[in-house]
Amino acid sequence: MKCSVCGNRIKKSDAYFGDERTFYEKKPLCETCYYEDEPCAVIYYNKNEEPCVISGTRNETEGDFSVKWQSTDPWRGHYETKSESYSLINTAELLAWHESEEMLKHFDERIRELFDESGIEYARIFARSSNVFYQSYDLYVKKDQELVGRLLVAKAKAEVDYENPKWYRNIIFDDQALNKLTELFPEEKIVTDYDAMKIAEKYGDEMIPELQKRLAKYK
Ligand SMILES: [Zn+2]
Repeated sequence: MKCSVCGNRIKKSDAYFGDERTFYEKKPLCETCYYEDEPCAVIYYNKNEEPCVISGTRNETEGDFSVKWQSTDPWRGHYETKSESYSLINTAELLAWHESEEMLKHFDERIRELFDESGIEYARIFARSSNVFYQSYDLYVKKDQELVGRLLVAKAKAEVDYENPKWYRNIIFDDQALNKLTELFPEEKIVTDYDAMKIAEKYGDEMIPELQKRLAKYK
């Protein structure tokens, strides 16, 4: 038989098979491809510092979690995580070298403390995207602990100033784009990405015509 990844011939007795809930589920694989497929996500359970991995061929979470590639265009996308036994209660974007990194680190430390104190069973999943500077951080708790989990997330967020829009600048718009929008929409007092996003919400389908109108006047 042939390895489904590299195409090399493998003896039937030497074949590995993709784990359940992976892209190569039940497909024959050589040993190298089975073990060395790049992880799509790493999972940390509770206090455990040993990561579990989900790749295209392996799923070390015993079916607790799975990932799915979500493409935004042919070249870009990210892995979305899913679970049937755990509830997703928070998602954050981890941006390398972004000023929000430090705040998210505090949030992560604090929420783990709170969960550990309250006996919450949780899992933290770091999933890859096509952008090497960006990964997502998904926080899950056991389904029957969702309500308490959410309350503790709210508490940790308040403590680390998580919701402050100041963290969310330059994620969608760079300074130049943001300054331009500020000039085009003076009445909106745009400071952060969040403010700019609110305009998009406000104008809805009229956003592009409105922008074009203002750009024409601006020249
Ligand atoms: Zn192979």
